[in-house]
Amino acid sequence: MRQTILNPLFAPLASLTGVGPKTGKLFDRLLDRGGEGARVVDLLFHLPQSTIDRRERPKIRDAPRDQVVLIEARVVEHRVPQGRYAKGPYRVLLEDDTGDMQLVFFRANAEWIEKALPIGATRWISGRLELYEGHLQMTHPDKILDAAGLERLPPVEPVYGLTEGLYQRVVAKAAGEALKRLPDLPEWRDEAWLGQRGLPSFARALASVHAPNAPADVALDAPARVRLAYDELLASQLALIMVRARMRDDRGRATAGDGRLAELVLEGLPFSPTDAQTAAVAEIRADMASHNRMLRLLQGDVGSGKTLVALLAMATAVEAGRQAALMAPTEILARQHFERLEPQCAAAGMRLALVTGRDSAAHRRRTLAALAAGGVDILVGTHAIFQDGVDFRDLALAVVDEQHRFGVHQRLALGEKGDRVDILVMTATPIPRTLVLTYFGDMDVSTLREKPAGRQPIETRAMPLERVGEVVEGLKRATAAGAQAYWVCPLVEENEELDLSAARDRFDDLKGIFGEGVGLVHGQMKGADKDAAMAAFQRGETRVLVATTVIEVGVDVPNATIMIIEHAERFGLAQLHQLRGRVGRGAGKSSCVLLYRAPLGEVANGRLAIMRETEDGFRIAEEDLRLRGEGEVLGSRQSGTPGFRLADLAAHAGLLPAAREEAASALRDDPELTSGRGEALRLLLDLFEREEAARLLRAG
Ligand code: ADP
Ligand code: MG
Repeated sequence: MRQTILNPLFAPLASLTGVGPKTGKLFDRLLDRGGEGARVVDLLFHLPQSTIDRRERPKIRDAPRDQVVLIEARVVEHRVPQGRYAKGPYRVLLEDDTGDMQLVFFRANAEWIEKALPIGATRWISGRLELYEGHLQMTHPDKILDAAGLERLPPVEPVYGLTEGLYQRVVAKAAGEALKRLPDLPEWRDEAWLGQRGLPSFARALASVHAPNAPADVALDAPARVRLAYDELLASQLALIMVRARMRDDRGRATAGDGRLAELVLEGLPFSPTDAQTAAVAEIRADMASHNRMLRLLQGDVGSGKTLVALLAMATAVEAGRQAALMAPTEILARQHFERLEPQCAAAGMRLALVTGRDSAAHRRRTLAALAAGGVDILVGTHAIFQDGVDFRDLALAVVDEQHRFGVHQRLALGEKGDRVDILVMTATPIPRTLVLTYFGDMDVSTLREKPAGRQPIETRAMPLERVGEVVEGLKRATAAGAQAYWVCPLVEENEELDLSAARDRFDDLKGIFGEGVGLVHGQMKGADKDAAMAAFQRGETRVLVATTVIEVGVDVPNATIMIIEHAERFGLAQLHQLRGRVGRGAGKSSCVLLYRAPLGEVANGRLAIMRETEDGFRIAEEDLRLRGEGEVLGSRQSGTPGFRLADLAAHAGLLPAAREEAASALRDDPELTSGRGEALRLLLDLFEREEAARLLRAG
């Protein structure tokens, strides 16, 4: 049981003032607890990525380019798109006594613009000011304020990562409410030590990050961020040390298969495994057959064929008369795994079942009953697999796909679903060896460096959005010849009124051209509609699939050979690589078009250049770190470090040795954590949900 003092933090987020059912759903998606509802603590741990500083009010002439600024100006003229430019943007000209600038609105709502920007009025406009073909312009400003609006504007505002349909001010307001729920917690760190380093209390640290007074308050090296990161690292090290100590004590069970089912699976495949796959399977089999408990990481770039390795490993468990589980980070992926594995399992006589958060109660009851009775050999699912009530007859192996969406410790929790379960974690994000040690202790690693034979390089081009017409022409030719394509649109962030729902508009556009051959899938769709759209694309009924980033991880349609990414400049490098990895999976030649809006900032330019240069995920991961290290992170920033919510190892790795040392020494002095300090450390474990450690303590 969690200590009751923490209850307000673990209350549903929807209990906050101002978070209704609709926003609540959006928060659930943003804070992504794999189908479970978000809680107050999840929002508190969703830290702002940056700030907007509106204290500076530069004149137009002096305003810095390519960053968000707040400018006071008079509205001079509206330029409504007309005639053969009717599809062009709506422009509004403004001036101050030093110069003029244009606001640019694509796919504009004219009525709204006229109301927001009456001619002759003074307005305060906030957005990114850019020089484009000799004009200063702001495309889709994030705020347009009159004097009253300006009054209400806080001088420094946090900027949060968002999800479709959710807006900055909604998140900021909810975060403010969440802060009020923070209980008065005892200090679990040495106060003198904190004092020496000028670090605030946990509660003060959270408050200063969510309600910054200056941009520096949210920086990764701000005292508040350091404090929070250290706490998280300390909790994780405490838990790791405790769990590993226990694992070393209890030896694993040997699970030896005879290779019979794996053989049947392979016979049914139209290809042979790569040497890398064969080697990885051999390593895993040896681990499973030994009396040591397996904790292995399977690294392999997108498309390297990790799923087959997982299936053969799971077949080993079934050969031994036991069960296996495969867990995916999203509904779509769980379903896809299930659908692909179904025929392969059937060929080998293995019984496969699926559990997700969306099952009907009756279906779920049946599945769980079969699982407990041993009528299911392999269970595929989302996060729902962790839940109470999911009981295996004899779980031997747990495979976790795309681990970066899950916490390290959640995986360990899955390990508790059976008797000394072997654990295989699959990730497409290459992790340097040193970091592996940090996350997983002495976890073993298998790497699929080689891709299946016959893969052709993906031709990657970057083009300015103005040339979208050419891209559509090319797409017409390619689809006529039988190809399928993804068309990815990013989120439009920040501005509610101007949220043009880019994907929907693009869908309408393309529908005008391709008719029924176009599908749409986005994050706000109902699960069943999402599945239907994916399935139609998989079956080839739709030729072009317009999508938001819901297809980011793992979706596999080998016939899709074209990836078009609109506003590629808004994506991070890892994300671009993942998206591109959706094509180049079949025998056909594949291409990727990165449509960007000019002018490109330096970092965005660097990213697109690397994408053109290489398809090597390991190299891209390195370059990503290098570019991210260089500051400006435009658009959709990638979340920090896998498994951590507050710590970002790129910035906070230096804190690890101290956290590790502190954890080890605390446990040496007080192994059961019963002293006063020990009690506070238990609270820390609860706060970061290191439940498996808390459970060990209770079991005593
Ligand atoms: P990822 O490592 O990204 O999860 P997948 O397991 O989804 O990759 O595999 C990508 C595609 O490659 C799938 O269509 C799969 O059937 C195919 N594949 C896997 N192994 C091989 C192989 N040895 N030869 C040819 N194709 C393969
Ligand atoms: Mg995969």
